[in-house]
Amino acid sequence: MAFNFGSAGEETNPAKPCRTCTDFKTWAKQTKQSISDKAGSAPVQRNKECPLDKDELGKNTWGFLHTMAAYYPDNPTPQQKNDMKSFFNSFSQFYPCEVCAKDFQQELRLQPPNVENQKGLTKWLCDMHNIVNVKLGKQSFDCNRVNERWKDGWLD
Ligand code: FAD
Repeated sequence: MAFNFGSAGEETNPAKPCRTCTDFKTWAKQTKQSISDKAGSAPVQRNKECPLDKDELGKNTWGFLHTMAAYYPDNPTPQQKNDMKSFFNSFSQFYPCEVCAKDFQQELRLQPPNVENQKGLTKWLCDMHNIVNVKLGKQSFDCNRVNERWKDGWLD
């Protein structure tokens, strides 16, 4: 069955919510696993090792992507440039939050990855992450400090 997704993580088919497109609280409600038990007993606790929700997936994925970009070569070979472009194209097809993936594909078409060197790729990825931040009503990150965050450590 095909799912119909709205914008910014909102699913329009409540019959079977996609956990990786939904934060845990919403997902639990949608699947009728009420977080606070109606009988008044202890609230349902998250297992330590349960499937990722949208926000956990996002945080971990950004960590991986920014770290990968931080260690991209300053002088990549033509092959490395092609491979990095292919990586982001494939990534955008398979990222397991459908609405996130669709929006990311759209952004990739508007702004393809800058694979010229480490500086270009880290800046491009920071801009892509900021597009999502703005969409979600979060603060933009200062892209001048992206290497401090993901490679060198904070200067102050
Ligand atoms: P995150 O946004 O996950 O950020 C993690 C850390 O990265 C922050 O603590 C900060 O230190 C650093 N950081 C923040 N901004 C930047 C930046 N611009 N450059 C470098 N470092 C930065 N969620 C949705 O609800 N809807 C979507 O459409 C959606 N699309 C997504 C698309 C992609 C490709 C990915 C990977 C995730 C997407 N997400 C989406 C998830 C969302 O971006 C967040 O990961 C999630 O909301 C959890 O946010 P967070 O506050 O933990 O911090």
